[in-house]
Amino acid sequence: AGGVRAASQLGELRLRGMSRAYGAYTALHPLDLTVRGGEFVALLGPSGCGKTTALNCLAGLLPLTAGEILLDGKRVDTVPPEKRGFGMVFQNYALFPHLTVRANVAFGLKMRGVPKAEIQRRVEEVLRLVRLGEHAHKHPGQLSGGQQQRVAIARAIVMEPPLVLMDEPLSNLDAALRLEMRSEIRRLHQEFGLTTLYVTHDQEEALSLADRLVVLDAGRVSQIGTPAELYEHPADPHVAAFMGYRNLLALEVVSARGPEVVAARRGLRLTGTVVGDARVTQGQQVTVAIRPEDVRIAEEGEPRVAEAVAEIVEYHGRVLHVEAVTADGDRVHLRAGREVRPGDAIALAVDAERALVFGAGGAPAGA
Ligand code: ATP
Repeated sequence: AGGVRAASQLGELRLRGMSRAYGAYTALHPLDLTVRGGEFVALLGPSGCGKTTALNCLAGLLPLTAGEILLDGKRVDTVPPEKRGFGMVFQNYALFPHLTVRANVAFGLKMRGVPKAEIQRRVEEVLRLVRLGEHAHKHPGQLSGGQQQRVAIARAIVMEPPLVLMDEPLSNLDAALRLEMRSEIRRLHQEFGLTTLYVTHDQEEALSLADRLVVLDAGRVSQIGTPAELYEHPADPHVAAFMGYRNLLALEVVSARGPEVVAARRGLRLTGTVVGDARVTQGQQVTVAIRPEDVRIAEEGEPRVAEAVAEIVEYHGRVLHVEAVTADGDRVHLRAGREVRPGDAIALAVDAERALVFGAGGAPAGA
């Protein structure tokens, strides 16, 4: 065998109705998902949505209540965790404190009975790849958080696993290190092409790392798609919120003509575009989603969607982040390119194609 293999050995991972309940509470509703070999898929959702439950089911740490896990067509959900041979990287790195970096990375290969010379070669190669060559003789306690996380990643990669599971691996790192390790993970994934499932509640992390995202809401899939698909076409308000639509306004439909809808409340009247093939009618309650970047202060004579009072103004260099309140108490987040002070009366403008209208029940989720 050569060194560390540069491509995934996995054809596909398929989840068929994978679900998990704790007593009467269903933490994960039946999940169907096919992951191609070499693909990087992020499970994204707020705390408690079932991400860790899904990952632990995959790892074999938690039995399924129903459904199947298939690796290249072979069922593995009844296989014990250590026999699945998956790589695991969690937020607490779980390194052996009394072993050196080198010994930590070599541990799994040793347990597997790989010949000594081969262990040495593979460990050195992986340590070089994660840029820890100079630290190989140290103990975990002598390393920074980022370096420890790299050891945890090296330990997973060296086993050439068919699948790598990562659960919030960067959440214990400070902001600068998170960014650095994020590009490190991206680089390693590009180099090795390891099939990876990555759990996070951070949409920026998910968007920047993953080939595809699975957005979970209360144990159910809201939408599955590429970063661009989710960013451009969120299927429901929950996904929209994750994709930066900070303004989710509950409004009543005044008129609907085709996909174009006018919805209003006191002090706020918006024209937006209906998402999907949902049909809305006059008088119906809808949710209108708009990104703060798409709300601006109206120029003289420009059509306005709302009159509001600026309440919170934050300085962010060239633009100000403003939170304004309408007559009905709706909060609107917007960006201002000119001076605004708390208490100023401002008129707001939004382009109709930038406002997404979700009817009750939302649009159908992606496949
Ligand atoms: P976080 O980001 O906070 O870790 P998560 O999305 O990973 O959240 P899970 O840990 O998968 O969420 O939990 C999903 C739901 O299942 C939660 O409502 C949680 O309270 C519940 N849950 C998790 N473990 C158990 C358990 N052992 N017994 C009962 N309920 C549980």
